[in-house]
Amino acid sequence: DRTTCWLLGDQLNPDLDVLDAADDVLLIEAHGFADRKPYHAHKLTLVFSAMRHFRDELRERGHDVTYVRTESFGEGLDEFFAERDANGGDGPRLRLMRPASHGAGERLRGLVAERGGTLDLVDNELFWTTPADWREWAGDGDGPLVGDDGAAERTFRQENWYRHVRRETGVLMDDGDPVGGEWNYDDLNQETPPDGWEPPARPAFEPDELTRETHAWVCERFDTWGNDSLDEFAWPVTRDGAREALDRFVSDGLPAFGRYQDAMVGGEPFCSHSLLSPAINLGLLDPREPVRAVERAYAERGVDPGGYDPAEHGASGGATASLDDFGDGAESAESTEPAPVPLNAAEGFVRQVIGWREFVRHVYREAMPELADANQLGQDRDLPPAYWDGDTDMRCLSEAVGHVREYGYAHHIERLMVLSNFALVYGADPAELNEWFHLGFVDAYHWVTTPNVVAMGSFGTDVLSSKPYASSGSYVNRMSDHCADCPYAVSRTTGEGACPFNALYWDFLKENEDALRGTGRMGLMYSHVDGKDDAEWESIRERAARVRELAADGEL
Ligand code: FAD
Repeated sequence: DRTTCWLLGDQLNPDLDVLDAADDVLLIEAHGFADRKPYHAHKLTLVFSAMRHFRDELRERGHDVTYVRTESFGEGLDEFFAERDANGGDGPRLRLMRPASHGAGERLRGLVAERGGTLDLVDNELFWTTPADWREWAGDGDGPLVGDDGAAERTFRQENWYRHVRRETGVLMDDGDPVGGEWNYDDLNQETPPDGWEPPARPAFEPDELTRETHAWVCERFDTWGNDSLDEFAWPVTRDGAREALDRFVSDGLPAFGRYQDAMVGGEPFCSHSLLSPAINLGLLDPREPVRAVERAYAERGVDPGGYDPAEHGASGGATASLDDFGDGAESAESTEPAPVPLNAAEGFVRQVIGWREFVRHVYREAMPELADANQLGQDRDLPPAYWDGDTDMRCLSEAVGHVREYGYAHHIERLMVLSNFALVYGADPAELNEWFHLGFVDAYHWVTTPNVVAMGSFGTDVLSSKPYASSGSYVNRMSDHCADCPYAVSRTTGEGACPFNALYWDFLKENEDALRGTGRMGLMYSHVDGKDDAEWESIRERAARVRELAADGEL
């Protein structure tokens, strides 16, 4: 019997085991989703260009590939089935790695069955851990994980999961103990770089002819949002490109990744982040690859936690290979050995991938469908227009939204402590914020935005954190250089010109006192709430109301 391997647009890896046993391959480029909402032009270009490159690569490797461009999966299957019927034989048998989106596997199985075929769903190899691994760790629970009111029936702690996965995979382990003796070096990963520090250059993957063609078609065919020029588009769209991006991160970005991981620097959207999420989420990189590569780099170039200070060295530590040399294999004349990798950098990176990424994927699986609409604080304001047009005097917000508009990317702390923190204390609807992230980011998929935005960022449910990631302007001030150049005064909470984060933050705590006072680690915050007198609260309320009004009118 012939078996066709059907791969989705986020499963673009030619080395998958699921391809080995298949007779041929089906790829359906379905466009309908992008007609319904204004996605970032770079996101659509990235996904469709990567699919088309993948088609060509599979054919070069000798696979028989059917590539259908159509509106919906249903129509794509009609076309595929008609072609099969014309060639005679029984209804096709398809095999698909279980999609990451909630309910998609069953929906697609239904579409195939309606047309007289069969669809076998197999584990998704593009995650390191399986649903069975999760169940073994988390146990089985009865009933929905998240209730109608958003409150979680059971909660999970990422740190425990992370340690479990370290033990199971042996990553950065030494005879049953964590390398270096500690599981987590996050306390070393909260520094800001000194003035004048230059992060490594962003690896630039010049769009080729196929990407240019795809982009021109995207801009003509869809209503898009954000930067619609290709000038700033530098994402890898092939597996080779993704591997080069990984090598480049490991040699240049990794040494400073830990120390400056939480920092925000004006005019520097990328800092020392890996920029690998778009490639990992498309399947171009298997998540094991970056983790193992970082582990290897630590074995070869490792030094003690905190044992390398990037501020004392040039842009990329020792390495100075120039962008022009990148991609054609030529060595830069100036190129020197890459900088050392302190343990806090290696551990910090590994934690993001096997800790956070795998963790949110399983929480999503277990907590859907309730997770998507969870809103335990009952927040329902429309997202302020500044999220769409970037037009605000708040320096931190305009930088972060600007990065999303320009690149379809903002790094983790901008996402968490600016973009979702502001929406949280402002009182925005978590589902609308989730949609905004989903449309605007090149690495966004429902399985990854929903836990990050609805649970972590908006505290719509407490399933993955016991307290909200809410803060006043002082956090932004500590972790960035924005406040010094901002017309709003971070030192003031009330009155015209005070930092909008401050009054919103206190007002948010007061408004949500019933829900939050008793929750984990909020005691200190509520002792400050209790310390404010009535007159102070009146001014806070007044300023918060004014800020909300200005934000809603697009005048903040
Ligand atoms: P790095 O800082 O270099 O981190 C390395 C890798 O760790 C990332 O590539 C990613 O694969 C993984 N990672 C780290 N944290 C997370 C996390 N919380 N969840 C999943 N993976 C993680 N990540 C996405 O991939 N897509 C999203 O749409 C997305 N939306 C987010 C929205 C909010 C509100 C928040 C708080 C986080 C979101 N994240 C998302 C997680 C994280 O911010 C991004 O993975 C990261 O910023 C991607 O950039 P990078 O590759 O340079 O990451």
